[in-house]
Amino acid sequence: MKIHEYQAKEILAKYGVAVPRGEMAATYDEAVDVAKRLFAGGAKAVVVKAQIHAGGRGKGGGVKVTKNLEAAEDAIKAILGMQLITHQTGPLGQKVQRLLIEEGSSIERELYLGIVLDRATSKLVFMASQAGGMEIEEVAAKDPSAIVKETIEPAVGFMPYQARNLAFALGLKPEQINDAVKLMTGVYKAFIETDATLLEINPFITTTDGKLAALDCKINFDDNAMFRHKELKDLRDVAEEDPLEVEASKYALNYIKLDGNIACMVNGAGLAMATMDIIQYAGGSPANFLDVGGGANAQQIEHAFEILLSDKGVKAVFINIFGGILRVDTLANGVVSAAKNLGITVPVILRLEGTNVEQGRQILAESGFNFIVGETMQDAAEKAVAAVQ
Ligand code: GDP
Ligand code: MN
Repeated sequence: MKIHEYQAKEILAKYGVAVPRGEMAATYDEAVDVAKRLFAGGAKAVVVKAQIHAGGRGKGGGVKVTKNLEAAEDAIKAILGMQLITHQTGPLGQKVQRLLIEEGSSIERELYLGIVLDRATSKLVFMASQAGGMEIEEVAAKDPSAIVKETIEPAVGFMPYQARNLAFALGLKPEQINDAVKLMTGVYKAFIETDATLLEINPFITTTDGKLAALDCKINFDDNAMFRHKELKDLRDVAEEDPLEVEASKYALNYIKLDGNIACMVNGAGLAMATMDIIQYAGGSPANFLDVGGGANAQQIEHAFEILLSDKGVKAVFINIFGGILRVDTLANGVVSAAKNLGITVPVILRLEGTNVEQGRQILAESGFNFIVGETMQDAAEKAVAAVQ
């Protein structure tokens, strides 16, 4: 689960990490009101920041530093409601429905801090870099040595000496080292206690008066841990998510929309990955990842179909099911009833194996619909690719 910058900063603040003063606003009047209060409170600058679940907002025109109320009003007008396009939003961009109005900081240096899980070592890695502010992925690709890493041993956690190593690598001044250690320890604690999967502060700044602060923050949480974080669930902003993915999550379907034209309906994440691979191998391109789960019922199959078919790019549906907990005849009944209720017009290609496969095939054959059945996974994939050509 992703959250907005202003929400991530509220979490950081709870863990003692310094963040600029500011407030979220969802309307023009609210935003102007916050800007007014910040200027009245002595702010020399006010920053207007688009809140969308994507980075690169600065380059895309979604972050503006203003020096007076008039300029702040202009920036609010320009950014609120705009269709913000960044390298992370895709070509259509994302509509800006919330703003963070924040006191401007006088930046001395822009640095980077981040924690991610390193799957190679199965351990968390705390990263720091002097090359903050810009795209860290680019830094990692062009000059990996510019990113310093401390691997965290799960049994002992993030140690103060590791924070000191990172602080020195950032070239901080001697009098800033203790502050940096405290701040990084807070960041680590926030990561662990919220079951985050990614936490990035980019830029992590030093100010001209020697202070440290998080000027931007991104946190992703582990969906599988949300059951023990009721307080985090409320931070979800479905307006930022793909509408089809939101719909799918209501029926406990694991769905991710992709750009191709062959929709996939599969049970089991591993089989879903293999199905996407074999479609590519056969020369096609998958329209989605969809795992209906091991125990799907006929109703879920129908909902899954509904979601697949509301993607206008879909030219064929490839169903690849191994009947285990989900019996093949149950699946077949779901497919037939979906075909009846939804009036499916695109070709449906199936590859079925497992429990009750014979009954399943019979149900499909007697349904009166023209389903295409593949002998093997590869055969079915080739038939699906041929069907869209
Ligand atoms: P991102 O582009 O989505 O990562 O958004 P950021 O929050 O990182 O902001 C982008 C850039 O705007 C930062 O790297 C800063 O250079 C600039 N910026 C943001 N806030 C301030 C501020 O308070 N003062 C100044 N001078 N620049 C800022
Ligand atoms: Mn940033």
